[in-house]
Amino acid sequence: MFLRPTTLHEATQALADGGQVLAGGTDFFPALGTRPAPDKIIDVSRVGELRGIQTSHGQIRIGGATTWSEIVAAPLPGCFDALKAAAREIGAIQIQNRGTVAGNLCNASPAADGVPPLLILDAEVELASSSGVRRLPLGDFLVGNRKTQRRPDEILSAVLVPLALSDAPSVFLKLGARRYLVISIAMVAALIADDGQGRVATARIAVGSCSATARRLLELERDLLGQPLDSKLSSLAQAEHLSPLSPIDDVRATAAYRRDATLTLVRRALDACVEARS
Ligand SMILES: Cc1cc2nc3c(=O)[nH]c(=O)nc-3n(C[C@H](O)[C@H](O)[C@H](O)COP(=O)(O)OP(=O)(O)OC[C@H]3O[C@@H](n4cnc5c(N)ncnc54)[C@H](O)[C@@H]3O)c2cc1C
Repeated sequence: MFLRPTTLHEATQALADGGQVLAGGTDFFPALGTRPAPDKIIDVSRVGELRGIQTSHGQIRIGGATTWSEIVAAPLPGCFDALKAAAREIGAIQIQNRGTVAGNLCNASPAADGVPPLLILDAEVELASSSGVRRLPLGDFLVGNRKTQRRPDEILSAVLVPLALSDAPSVFLKLGARRYLVISIAMVAALIADDGQGRVATARIAVGSCSATARRLLELERDLLGQPLDSKLSSLAQAEHLSPLSPIDDVRATAAYRRDATLTLVRRALDACVEARS
């Protein structure tokens, strides 16, 4: 059975008695391999409530079925620059035209490029089912490699971002084995807000591809608070700040290389945030 609901109500009703959600299919179909498609597929890409980006009540609401190309094209404040940069690096244009934000988050790959830029925005996810709607911080929603807190009857209907730091510069840096169409060896998103007197008022740094789920570097964030926003800021990032990470050796890189490269990426991201401000 292949269902194409056009409203969230129809979609959650259809999912209430089982089925698999499909959006752009760019993770869904490759993951099937040679197995047959599931018996019941609910394609949510035509659900109106899941499309588009709106601002209201001090937050930006990104519909779950918003594609990466739509994120790139949207007029969004500076704090979204990291998310836009990540969107431009997801696969290639064809993938960005099909792949969605919710698909990236629900697939929960450790290498999902959308996650670090949304973690530094303190994003929440909205999950809708036939029994209601709940919200969770993104950091709580992602619980492991390919594991989330989504119940089988829930649709990720939106990503919600508070607009408190809307003008703060943000940066996303991705390291892969080649420039384009590549799975990340490591990626870093950083956001720095200043206090109006040239010092750090808020720092948020998240690293992906170096642990089962992307992680914020909270100790580094604390150590940057109150520091002057100048070219020396990045040198405050030290190897010990990477202790929340647990990189592995795999076909793309060794754990040691990931640690080394991540420290360089973090420092470059901080430099880029300082430069973006001046
Ligand atoms: C060639 C290629 C290159 C790629 N490059 C990158 C890359 O560089 N970086 C990167 O991060 N990813 C990459 N990807 C992975 C993929 O494109 C992204 O993760 C994309 O955002 C997935 O979105 P989708 O809409 O296609 O998800 P789908 O494939 O439709 O779904 C993925 C999973 O999420 C579930 N799902 C989807 N939408 C919802 C929803 N609204 N509610 C609940 N569950 C839902 C599905 O059931 C499925 O389990 C690549 C994929 C390919 C094929």
